Amino acid sequence: MSGDKTFYLETFGCQMNVHDSEKVIGTLVHEGYRQVQTVEQADLILYNTCSIRDKAEQKVFHRLADFKKLQSQGKKFGVLGCVAQQEGEKIFERAPHVSLVCGSASYTNLPQMLKQLETVPQENPKEAHSSKLTAQSLIRITGLDDRATDKCFETEFTARTNPHRGYITIIEGCDKFCAYCVVPFTRGKERSRTSESVLAEARQMADLGYTEIQLLGQNVNSYKDSAGKSASRKSFAELLVAVGEVPGIKRVRFTTSHPRDFGRDIVDAIDAVPTLCDHVHLPVQSGSNKVLQAMQRLYTREQYEERIAWMKSAERDIAITTDVIVGFPGESDQDFMETLNLLDEVGYDGVFTFKYSPRPNTPALSLQDAIPDEEKSRRLEALMQRQKEIQIKRYKKYLGTTQEVMVEAKNESRKQWIGRTTQNKTLNFTAPETSVPQIGTYVNVKATQTFPNSLLGELVI
Ligand code: SAM
Ligand code: SF4
Repeated sequence: MSGDKTFYLETFGCQMNVHDSEKVIGTLVHEGYRQVQTVEQADLILYNTCSIRDKAEQKVFHRLADFKKLQSQGKKFGVLGCVAQQEGEKIFERAPHVSLVCGSASYTNLPQMLKQLETVPQENPKEAHSSKLTAQSLIRITGLDDRATDKCFETEFTARTNPHRGYITIIEGCDKFCAYCVVPFTRGKERSRTSESVLAEARQMADLGYTEIQLLGQNVNSYKDSAGKSASRKSFAELLVAVGEVPGIKRVRFTTSHPRDFGRDIVDAIDAVPTLCDHVHLPVQSGSNKVLQAMQRLYTREQYEERIAWMKSAERDIAITTDVIVGFPGESDQDFMETLNLLDEVGYDGVFTFKYSPRPNTPALSLQDAIPDEEKSRRLEALMQRQKEIQIKRYKKYLGTTQEVMVEAKNESRKQWIGRTTQNKTLNFTAPETSVPQIGTYVNVKATQTFPNSLLGELVI
């Protein structure tokens, strides 16, 4: 590689991947690389991939195919993340121009893998056209630790992109094995960081001026502190409180919570500590007990409803959002109606909806994916329509209220500022030229109009 080592990194998928990329970027920069914004400028091209659904995975292979021709310019390619772990060495067959395949459980070994990658001479572009099997296409570096590692990817070199709010991963991997899900196979076994290390990172972020922290994990509330003596170990709710009490921190969010491990102590913590945000994302997946059981979700509808009741009886107005999968094998019309009816009953503030997508290695793969795609689409559409009606009503509730928002950005074309409430709602607002709000500050906004997915208002001076 040339003296000036450059890399381009594109991230697909969830917040966990976005944050992993911040840590990967920090690691590369520490190893002497410089990040560039286009594939053309880079020596090393990395894709941090997602394989949660088939479409996400196909996107990565299309992107790799699009840029294959750049190999002849001496560029090297690496696939990171869930597709890397899932497809492993098969990626080298499908995309022979790839030199590095590394799953998230092996990121701690990235510095060594980068060194290996650098020892291979850069291909001479002139010779590349004449030789099919070039030195470069034979470099095959893999980091494919499966479910063996107990280590979390902890680094002091995280390159956070937003200076006001940032992620902290508290738990990695997953041991739940829901019947449809690849995560336990792609992200390894469940492992938690110590509360001391999480709190040290939170304090460091506060010292740097961050005011909002988002705790991340596939199931944050399955957190198990392994620090020190058992008496000093913190439960998830205790960790939430401790992060919320870090001086300088104004908001703490956490995602995702698994219903089975969702204790009442989390709701009590939200009630007790004002910095903990009024929002819980609690994926239900289905409103039918039969489907929940087939999905191996480890709770019943009634248990889920109990958790919703805890939140509704809280003193604070906790916004609740969820994920739903339609068309899981065996989901009948009646099962689907039960999901629609759960939406009415809970009155969610937001729902992420997905069509079931069969995934490699998962237990559900042996079930027949018998529901036709048109029927999945019909159910998805019906679900989104029902939820839209619910949200129109719910958002109206905020008309005329004053909400504190963090100012996130400005929408220049609309001449509006984009704000976010503690409930994670977008509240766009106008402000007089004499009171221009600063990005990252907190201001009060009065809501004057409501929409299905956002609010509009005016800055309160
Ligand atoms: N750990 C979280 C939980 O248990 O709810 C979810 C993590 S997963 C990355 C995010 C969402 O993707 C899931 O809640 C589910 O709705 C959706 N999902 C996962 N696997 C899927 C599949 N095979 N087909 C469709 N949607 C899927
Ligand atoms: Fe996937 Fe289930 Fe684990 Fe969530 S809890 S990551 S849906 S296996």
